[in-house]
Amino acid sequence: MTDTQKPVRVRFAPSPTGKLHIGGARTAIYNWAFARATGGTFVLRIEDTDPERSTDENTQIILRALRWLGLDWDEGPEVGGACGPYFQMQRMDTYAAALERLKERDAAYPCFCTKEELDAKRAKAEKEEGGYAGYDRTCRCLSHEEAAARIAAGEDHVWRIKVPEDRGAIEFDDAVYGHISFPADVMDDMILVRTDGSPTYNFAVVCDDANMGITHVIRGDDHLSNTPRQILIYEALGYETPTFGHLSMILGPDGKKLSKRHGATNVEEYRDRGYLSDALVNFLALLGWSLDGETTIISREVLTSQFGLDRITKKDAIFDETKLNWMNGVYIREMDAPEWVAASKRWIAEAAVQGANVADGVNVVPTPEQGEDPLPLAITAEDEGYAEAVSAALADIEEDPAFYEKLYPLVIERLARLDDIPAKLEFIFWGANVRLDEKSVKKVLLKEGARADEALRACREVLAREDLPWEAEALQEACRALCEPMDMKPKLMFQPLRVAVCGNMVSPPLFESIELMEPEDVLARIDGVLASVFEA
Ligand code: GLU
Repeated sequence: MTDTQKPVRVRFAPSPTGKLHIGGARTAIYNWAFARATGGTFVLRIEDTDPERSTDENTQIILRALRWLGLDWDEGPEVGGACGPYFQMQRMDTYAAALERLKERDAAYPCFCTKEELDAKRAKAEKEEGGYAGYDRTCRCLSHEEAAARIAAGEDHVWRIKVPEDRGAIEFDDAVYGHISFPADVMDDMILVRTDGSPTYNFAVVCDDANMGITHVIRGDDHLSNTPRQILIYEALGYETPTFGHLSMILGPDGKKLSKRHGATNVEEYRDRGYLSDALVNFLALLGWSLDGETTIISREVLTSQFGLDRITKKDAIFDETKLNWMNGVYIREMDAPEWVAASKRWIAEAAVQGANVADGVNVVPTPEQGEDPLPLAITAEDEGYAEAVSAALADIEEDPAFYEKLYPLVIERLARLDDIPAKLEFIFWGANVRLDEKSVKKVLLKEGARADEALRACREVLAREDLPWEAEALQEACRALCEPMDMKPKLMFQPLRVAVCGNMVSPPLFESIELMEPEDVLARIDGVLASVFEA
């Protein structure tokens, strides 16, 4: 409950002119969490009045992204509610009714000034007065009779707000920024309804917020300059103003406003890069709000019970991807194997498809540059048959998840994003083939004095033993037992095997990986490497 004891009603009001941006997602999270923490109502409203840039497709993308984030709305598209419809284009009658109300209250007037006249006035003011102070209120002086006659005669007109002469500064207490004051003289008699009868942005927002009983308007601070105008509209309509709370900007690590330049900016890109929605919600919640100034891992339960406007900061928030990756890893590690498979299916399927497309025995591939995938891809989404292969792999995962659950301990400790899975796990699916990382060949297999070929041959013999169970621990112990008699350190014994079977020096746990492969494939990989690297 708020001070006034009115149940909280908040809204998220995206314009479907693009996808759901990270900044918009944070605004949605704050509104949602505030509604949940106060037992209030979270309304979703689609502001689709810009006919050129709004599309149904974007609306669908936004709804999908909100659902993926787990931000359920109590009223809005698809769920309905008592204050609908929740698309502005379907609320035109409410804006017309609001205009009637303004006329009755003598709080708006028709303006017949043409665009040319207004442009000329602006140009003159800029030249002679050093700036344009807004509409000069020419039509405000018209008598009601004259205005009515000109309307009746079909003359084009807009409707402007009649800002009271003695209004004074427009002041309000922002829930985040504190007390804010805008001088009234910067507010001109703004247009509320255009010549074609459509409402302007500020007018529609106020009508909707008022009609939907919104108690708190929490939104990005790019809307701060709209707020005094909107307050004037509330006053003109004779409605109580809600509490406003403006959220500071999200900046990239370079201190500039977060944009495409910094990488992914919309929610679906984050989903596709293998971030978990729980982690993203946690991370975004902390871009400007804190629980206690130090807790970083905050569950939805805590967020939706503890969130409050009093702990939102007005400092700009820095989007730190390293922190997001760390946090995502924490959430990944909280999953158990079945949850991990369920969340990772599409990437495990990709690993299987990538792996199965490695052919022709042993290939040495160039070591990728810093930041590149550990292996160049064998096949890409554009290649023929890729999509079918991925669906087949997905079907297999769904049918028999048990095998895939065994992949979980191989990667779970060091996985920051789920889309790292294909590169990390494709080697499991290589069959008898190997892709050898060039640098690992030089540094491990061909290292002077390392006797890598001897190590490989000895390990191969152990792995070929019929009497040993094909289990990680048994195989590892038997290989380790080779070290002493051969006078070789375990690292020199195991690294060549790792490179020969997994392709590089940094693979997941070696023997646990080997256990998941077919013995004949493992032996074939070793034979292939021995032949191509040492006997060629
Ligand atoms: N539709 C506006 C936007 O997407 C939000 C309006 C508001 O929150 O008041 O930026």
